[in-house]
Amino acid sequence: MERALPTHAPMSQWPLRDGELLVGSEPLSRLAARVGQTPFYAYSRPLLRQRVAELRASLPRAVKLHYAMKANPMPAVVQFMAGLVDGIDVASAGELKVALDAGADPAEISFAGPGKRDPELRQSVAAGVLVNVESLRELPVLAAASQELGLPARVAVRVNPDFELKGSGMKMGGGPKQFGLDVELVPEALAFAAREGLAFEGFHLFAGSQNLRADSICEAQCKSYELALRLAGHAPSPVKFLNLGGGFGIPYFPGEQRLDLAPIGANLQAIVERAAREMPAAGIVIELGRYLVGEAGLYVTRVVDRKVSRGQVFLVCDGGLNHQLAASGNFGQVVRKNYPVGVFPVRGTARETASAVGPLCTPLDLLADRMDLPQAQVGDLVVVFQSGAYGASSSPQAFLGHPACAEVLV
Ligand SMILES: *Cc1c(COP(=O)(O)O)cnc(C)c1O
Repeated sequence: MERALPTHAPMSQWPLRDGELLVGSEPLSRLAARVGQTPFYAYSRPLLRQRVAELRASLPRAVKLHYAMKANPMPAVVQFMAGLVDGIDVASAGELKVALDAGADPAEISFAGPGKRDPELRQSVAAGVLVNVESLRELPVLAAASQELGLPARVAVRVNPDFELKGSGMKMGGGPKQFGLDVELVPEALAFAAREGLAFEGFHLFAGSQNLRADSICEAQCKSYELALRLAGHAPSPVKFLNLGGGFGIPYFPGEQRLDLAPIGANLQAIVERAAREMPAAGIVIELGRYLVGEAGLYVTRVVDRKVSRGQVFLVCDGGLNHQLAASGNFGQVVRKNYPVGVFPVRGTARETASAVGPLCTPLDLLADRMDLPQAQVGDLVVVFQSGAYGASSSPQAFLGHPACAEVLV
């Protein structure tokens, strides 16, 4: 018997009506007419709201939910998310400005990232946001800014742990890393903070990204908690802030399934109960980017040409890796796999094997490689699902000088 090929997770968050994909209640073709151009990204408010609600229902109430806005920094999205989550995590002074403009409470903004420049650190002190310190060099800069401005420098220490997040698409902790302070250096940083009167608040651990295995996320959260508890013994004051990271993934490729939140919720509940005894002042935070916004976004591009080359069908679209680098496989994938892709409107039952490519002069500009798709013609819309995170802002939009994509929040 033939083994069934692995398939993409169903994109059931996007209903179909009469062959049209619906964005909210609006058919995609009408949305495209309203936007006035292709390519564009569309993000759905109801889907964003639904995702946060699901998380709230699955995680303990005591756990605070932060949005890591680098996943999607569109100002309207950040503003919408700021109204749903408990805090915003920024990775630059540029993102800090967007978060503040969006009305996020500075008390609930934290700033992490390697290579924070001196002016960015000073801006953070002036804004009153929490800085996740990742290098001993940042400490005296923060102390000087605090002195000069007469404001407390709120700091947490981002720790590069001595373990890795198993099954993670992108590892960002464990071993030698540019992120965070190696555990071994943390006592020295804490002693400096105490000596210089920095306002120590807690610890930040982030082990990695795009993980679909609940067991390894739970393991990383437990180990992160243990490590923070050990380090709390060196802290100048009680831990108020304990960011256990995130790394929750979404299904992109055939065979991948949605993350099971139930065991993560139970694991966090156990951590919350331990923390109530062992670090009673600590508010537990998880920070998520992709998981909050990734499934709520579409990348929409139009077929400008349909070519058959030696028997293979190519749908040549008006956008590609210049806007949606990740779907082309060039944003950290080792072996290229197809994102879920669709062609709309669906006119009948005829299907064909086709490749969707962008307009750039490079074979890397590939959105779908020989996929089974509804038969498409020039003018149809090619949709890349799972495009709400690491899309427009993570792609080389200037490459080849095509127009920028539009972005709409619907
Ligand atoms: C990028 C990043 C995140 C968000 O990661 P996702 O995989 O999008 O959830 C969270 N925290 C830190 C420190 C990051 O660098």
